[in-house]
Amino acid sequence: MFACTGYAAESATAPLAPFSFQRRSPGPNDVQIDILYCGVCHSDIHTARGEWGNSVWPVCPGHEIVGRVSAVGGDVTKFKVGDLAGVGCMVDSCRECASCRDGLEQYCENGFTGTYNDPDKNMPGSRTYGGYSKVIVVDQDFVLRIPENLELAAVAPLLCAGITTYSPLRHWRVGPGQKVGIVGLGGLGHMALKLAHAMGAEVTLFTTSPNKAEDAKRLGAHRVVVSRDADAMAAETASFDFILDCVSADHDINAYLRLIKRDGTLCQVGAPEKPLAISAFSVIFPRRHFAGSLIGGIAETQEMLDFCGEHGITADIEMIAMDEINEAYERMIASDVKYRFVIDMATMPKAA
Ligand SMILES: [Zn+2]
Ligand SMILES: [Zn+2]
Repeated sequence: MFACTGYAAESATAPLAPFSFQRRSPGPNDVQIDILYCGVCHSDIHTARGEWGNSVWPVCPGHEIVGRVSAVGGDVTKFKVGDLAGVGCMVDSCRECASCRDGLEQYCENGFTGTYNDPDKNMPGSRTYGGYSKVIVVDQDFVLRIPENLELAAVAPLLCAGITTYSPLRHWRVGPGQKVGIVGLGGLGHMALKLAHAMGAEVTLFTTSPNKAEDAKRLGAHRVVVSRDADAMAAETASFDFILDCVSADHDINAYLRLIKRDGTLCQVGAPEKPLAISAFSVIFPRRHFAGSLIGGIAETQEMLDFCGEHGITADIEMIAMDEINEAYERMIASDVKYRFVIDMATMPKAA
């Protein structure tokens, strides 16, 4: 084991603060990564504050991790010291169930090991600690290769926000000739616009704020519909092949289901706190599908990173220092970020 410094919340109500803990020394299959940047996801806030009811403190969040390999175990073949590397939402899974065998570790039937706040198989009695830290040690099978041509800090959010939107766009075969809607322009929505555009679809952003139209078009939307405009919404009825709903606030899902064509799908990736009230008629007519999707498997995450490398896609980010994290949380809750905060890990205090 070795000592590592990070930032963690000690309770649901405590602000994040410097934190010292132990990481395992790399085993034969492990990759040790010096973390350079870590994106800030809404899940980090929910977990630090115990809002999902599964937190065990201290919580050291962060699952949008990029850095450089600083050590490798003897059996590691996929990485060498000095390589760029990334870690997303998972650091392990059972590797035996049907989902794991299908490369869908995110749906591991025995529960994947989250990058933070999960029991750590490698250090019994301890929890996993995430990317708000200087160093992480992860099995090579859960480490991603990072395209060299992209701005590294802006790659970090691809590891959660990027794959969360890429996976459903791919699963429902979004591409040329299709009319695709993206609901909400935040961390997820801004990635969805870029990715759906690069996949060749005709992309429409739905937003409650008319003043987001210009930015949406810059990010890849061909059209923008203001969802509060009832006439504009009515004009879109039953015309979309696929809609990706990225909104985590309460909203009327039927207003979007109505816009789906026969046999088309509305997929939910935003996670509102309260149940969504779906009218049966919104899906009965005309045989619409309502679906969900969770991040993506490791192989698909690598495919997404390679796709982003090929198409020059990264997140739009605002860089912060480690000690600005609590203020960043408040700004995220107020939707005041364009469109993802990324922590510059060089700003981590030397010792906690
Ligand atoms: Zn996330
Ligand atoms: Zn499994």
